[in-house]
Amino acid sequence: MKNISIWRDKKVNSEPFLDENIETDILIIGGGMTGLSTAYFLRDKGYKVCLTEKNYIGNGVTTKSTGKITYLQDILKDIDNIDDYIKAQIEACNLIKKVIMENNIDCDYEEVYHYLDSDDNRKINDLYKKIKNYCKRDGDTLKALSAVFNPFKFLISLKEICLKSNVKIYENTGIIKVDTDRFIAYTGKYKIKFKNCVLATHYPSLVKLLFLPVHSYLEKSYLGATKVFDNKKSSGISIDKDSRSYRYYKDYYIFLGEVSDTSMNFNVSLDFDNLIKRNITADYVWSNKDIMTIDHMPYIGKVLDNIYIGTGYNTWGMTNGFLAGRIISDLILKGISEFGDLFDPKRLTKLKDYLKFPIFMGISAKAFVKSRLDDNPYKLVALKKINNKKVLVYTDKDGRKHTVCRTCPHLKCGIILNKVEEIWECPCHGSKFDIDGKCIEGPSNFDISFKENS
Ligand SMILES: Cc1cc2nc3c(=O)[nH]c(=O)nc-3n(C[C@H](O)[C@H](O)[C@H](O)COP(=O)(O)OP(=O)(O)OC[C@H]3O[C@@H](n4cnc5c(N)ncnc54)[C@H](O)[C@@H]3O)c2cc1C
Repeated sequence: MKNISIWRDKKVNSEPFLDENIETDILIIGGGMTGLSTAYFLRDKGYKVCLTEKNYIGNGVTTKSTGKITYLQDILKDIDNIDDYIKAQIEACNLIKKVIMENNIDCDYEEVYHYLDSDDNRKINDLYKKIKNYCKRDGDTLKALSAVFNPFKFLISLKEICLKSNVKIYENTGIIKVDTDRFIAYTGKYKIKFKNCVLATHYPSLVKLLFLPVHSYLEKSYLGATKVFDNKKSSGISIDKDSRSYRYYKDYYIFLGEVSDTSMNFNVSLDFDNLIKRNITADYVWSNKDIMTIDHMPYIGKVLDNIYIGTGYNTWGMTNGFLAGRIISDLILKGISEFGDLFDPKRLTKLKDYLKFPIFMGISAKAFVKSRLDDNPYKLVALKKINNKKVLVYTDKDGRKHTVCRTCPHLKCGIILNKVEEIWECPCHGSKFDIDGKCIEGPSNFDISFKENS
């Protein structure tokens, strides 16, 4: 069993890192669905475009998704502005298909029926009443023609198209600070002076956006892929709280296990055990997280002068991430975009949506306290004090010791071990670090590596 996403089981060439100060018209930070699609729509428009990625293209959550492209989403049941939202998603599905066809992108794109189901038939009936113009009833399920693809292959193809159009792409180039008054981004050693900046970092933690922590929370899921003989050429998700989700890819069946708030369970191995119990064998297992918003709509658009974000996709970031590329590029090039108002980060949130907020805060606070308790639940990890600093020491199966700082640089939550993927995680806000402490997923922008002699 491999402890990586099925999409990532492939090596690709990486681009060089930034080794000088540069100036650009548009700086895009982050090489996932949002960043690459923004670069795609901004290329060849007479602007200098530069994209920086802290690890490699496709390092983020995009290549840990199930790669479904559909408007028939489980969150429709919670959305108020349902018609406008579906129209935007249909536009995104069509746009992705058009870009794939026009550029002959080899990303295993395939049209399949996508299904919504529930243990409670009444929920399906209620949803059908709201969206019957967009889907068909099929027994106890709702269905619509949708598509699936390999998100990693898609991103790599977008990268190649952008490179041919003179977009500068720097990998292993993390931005640690953005000065929004002087329009300068810092990598640590070098500066990038920009006119416009797009924060495509999943969680836009490089800029203090006070509304975001009160309007969003993280959801974590566990995924597996197992070999099957029969590809049923379909995909689906349930609209129940425990949102079972599946799709097929070649001769693999990809399935989702437990879905939880990031901080519900500190024993990640147990979550993986529960995932595997659902299937006899799993050839790949991995975990993923996404940013959920309290009104279930993404935040896409301008947040400060010449600063743009695309985030909060509520686990539907293939369509919303691609749409973000379209909306943000329209806003930069024309100052206006068709779906700009719908996803405007400055939109008003209804009072009823705020009612859920204390629950998320409570869970997060509980996780913070629990994560800081010294009796870390992992027997494999020793909590030590070295040079007056609390560190965690993990001894791997080959006897090698890996020492990291005890707390996450983001908001000082205690770090936990994810033994299955052999990484460290922040249980409160979902930052991930490799086993030696290099930050691989935000919101943290800093590592937790610890050197005894430094
Ligand atoms: C279990 C699960 C399944 C999902 N399945 C689907 C699906 O089937 N269909 C669908 O539509 N959506 C799905 N999603 C949602 C989707 O995966 C995400 O919403 C989407 O991929 C987010 O894309 P992104 O570009 O914003 O983030 P990312 O792909 O994470 O890209 C952000 C990039 O920014 C980089 N970065 C971060 N900080 C910095 C920095 N300081 N400097 C430089 N670079 C930085 C990261 O390394 C990363 O590569 C799923 C989500 C989950 C949790």
